[in-house]
Amino acid sequence: MNRSERIEQLVRPLIAGLKPYSSARDEYSASREAMVFLDANENPFESDVNRYPDPHQQKLKQRIAALRGVQENHLFLGNGSDDILDLLFRVFCEPYTDQVLCLPPTFGMYRVLSRVHGAQLIEVPLDSNWQPDVEAILAHSGPTTKLLFLCSPNNPTGQSLDRGRVLELLSRFPGLVVIDEAYIEFAGQPGFAEYLATFENLVITQTLSKAYGLAGIRLGVCMAHPQVIDYLKRVKLPYNISELTQRHALAALQDTDKLSREVALIRSERARMAEELAKVPFISEVFASDANFLLVRVDDAAIRYRQLIERGVVVRNTSGYLNLPNTLRFTIGTPAENDRVLEILPTLIDLTSV
Ligand code: PMP
Repeated sequence: MNRSERIEQLVRPLIAGLKPYSSARDEYSASREAMVFLDANENPFESDVNRYPDPHQQKLKQRIAALRGVQENHLFLGNGSDDILDLLFRVFCEPYTDQVLCLPPTFGMYRVLSRVHGAQLIEVPLDSNWQPDVEAILAHSGPTTKLLFLCSPNNPTGQSLDRGRVLELLSRFPGLVVIDEAYIEFAGQPGFAEYLATFENLVITQTLSKAYGLAGIRLGVCMAHPQVIDYLKRVKLPYNISELTQRHALAALQDTDKLSREVALIRSERARMAEELAKVPFISEVFASDANFLLVRVDDAAIRYRQLIERGVVVRNTSGYLNLPNTLRFTIGTPAENDRVLEILPTLIDLTSV
């Protein structure tokens, strides 16, 4: 079986036979300026955004391909990485038949999407060091286990997953291994893009919502084998990335200095916050983080969460996640915001005195 055939075996039969919707604009995008376009029922009067956007996002993909060192046929763009995760279910998971696997405590969308798409969710908890239990994962996998979600660095714990274990899963897991690299820019190590040529079952998702500071424009990036990309393209809505998003992203991606400056500052603030949070009497543990947040264990998360809200600070109460009772997740803010949090924390009432 060659590489494409392996992916053809994983795709839903309905999608394998699907001919995508095509717009006339698909064929003529190169000579856009010179033509009279009367094909898409747009308003002809120029307003900067009266035309539909490029359905293939060619300019943006060229830029991202150059930045990531991958070829354009390995790239797919979505309306945030959530959108890409949703499309992966639509392409690969036959409702009420297929399974997906995730490793809690982890990002909640994998569970929500598996519910939405009628895919059975198999949860194999991370081990006590919050690393994947390779043998347990493989013991729960078979020909209908289509997607394995590995979140690295993991949300909400903050750690990167062990490289050796991830590579082992890539070579042994029968379905697609989706590595969610939403926080990769904050980690001190590279992601898995260098393995795209080695593993046809590797799917990487990234986002402009975190390090790039563009959560508002909604742009997610998927890197995968061209056959996976081809299936995602068949299922996506025709004009899935708005003109404004494409333009804004293209401009923002030129400014690599801003990215490195802000990531460096967030990382140094993360180190400062980790040190200072550890001194707070009701915080018993600050977990090491490769992301732009810190997970901490407190005496009573519900009370501390409420006290912080009363003082105008909103954090995430992560106590409902598996194995994370009495935990809060603090996103790293600006230095001034972090100072404010550090001023407030020592003023919160000592629960032993009430
Ligand atoms: N993956 C992870 C691990 C996340 O934490 C988030 C955002 N909370 C996302 C994906 C979704 O990001 P977006 O849709 O903004 O790209």
